[in-house]
Amino acid sequence: MTDLALKSVTKSVPFFDYPELYASQREELMRIFDDIGRRGAFILQKDVRDFEENLERYLGVKHAIGVANCTDGLIICLKAAGLNRGDEVIISSHTFIATAAAIFNAGGIPVPVDCGADHLIDPKAVERAITPKTKFIMPTQLNGRTCDMDGLLAIASKYRLQIVEDAAQALGSKFKGRFAGTFGAAAAFSFYPAKNLGALGDAGAIVTNNSELNEKMLLLRNHGRSPSGEVVIWGLNSRLDNLQAAILNFRFKSYDKIIERRRQIAAIYDEELKSLEELTLPPGPSLNVEHFDVFQNYEIEAERRDELQSHLKAHGIGTLQQWSGWAVHQMKSLGFTHSLPFTDALFKRMLMLPLNMSIADSDVHFVCDKIKEFYR
Ligand SMILES: *Cc1c(COP(=O)(O)O)cnc(C)c1O
Repeated sequence: MTDLALKSVTKSVPFFDYPELYASQREELMRIFDDIGRRGAFILQKDVRDFEENLERYLGVKHAIGVANCTDGLIICLKAAGLNRGDEVIISSHTFIATAAAIFNAGGIPVPVDCGADHLIDPKAVERAITPKTKFIMPTQLNGRTCDMDGLLAIASKYRLQIVEDAAQALGSKFKGRFAGTFGAAAAFSFYPAKNLGALGDAGAIVTNNSELNEKMLLLRNHGRSPSGEVVIWGLNSRLDNLQAAILNFRFKSYDKIIERRRQIAAIYDEELKSLEELTLPPGPSLNVEHFDVFQNYEIEAERRDELQSHLKAHGIGTLQQWSGWAVHQMKSLGFTHSLPFTDALFKRMLMLPLNMSIADSDVHFVCDKIKEFYR
């Protein structure tokens, strides 16, 4: 490598720094491993229930249930809420394949539709996709922002549909003061390591205010077995690991600070980049009083997106195209045949900039400088 090449890669801003998740809290985490190990508290112990109570208190919901991951959680929500084989479930095509896969694996048919300019499911597109087989709307509260739930709730009530929220990216996000995950029959959250509240492995939770659903969800999570051990229905093994629950309890204590920091980083991006006409930015943290965003992602639209991504990479800056650049309806190998031109066009323009708890303000400014340099 020449001196010049070396110099150009000295500063690096990875999209996400996984080892840092451990390194920055090593001592506390070791203490937790040791405590759990000494207690032999591995499956469905006190720490899982504590975490569930923490979530119930935080969200103001009656019931939270720790599950193995959000994808399982969505399956459990749909089954508990009465999805039958062949029922159609409307989703945004701009979501993780997990949203659609949960529907498929619960026996339903995922129906992807367009999102709007805000990247969230478009209520008008939902209404157009309704057929006699439609039973659920499953909105994804994407990028830490909650959908226009007024619009979706109105459609759900008009056509007698149930809502199950994919709130994987939205713990703490609100629409008109109400938390994501509290609008429908049930909702699922993800604590995958890179999520705003991340475990050191897979983890998830489901929530509901409906006690009957809660009873079913508890059975479904644990082999369909009642507390006495009697098998009542076909179930799954989708218990939240007790060790992960203990880690989440520890990290939950600083969750408000995590949200505050993420919103701060988003505000820097917003301030630095808003004058570039080649970009379309997500709404800034202070822009819209109806939304409280927790910025799981900072997803921009960019002219000459691929070239911009290469330019940033050459300067040691990690960016990502969400879902590796594929919308759900574009996955032809799964049998989707939908035509969604708006989403197709959007997927040529979107890019996520680094936004995580390990980056410093100076890193964010560096990223912005390199973006400005590209368009100058
Ligand atoms: C992360 C994510 C999931 C999957 O969560 P897991 O806990 O990994 O199963 C589902 N939907 C969306 C929108 C996600 O971002």
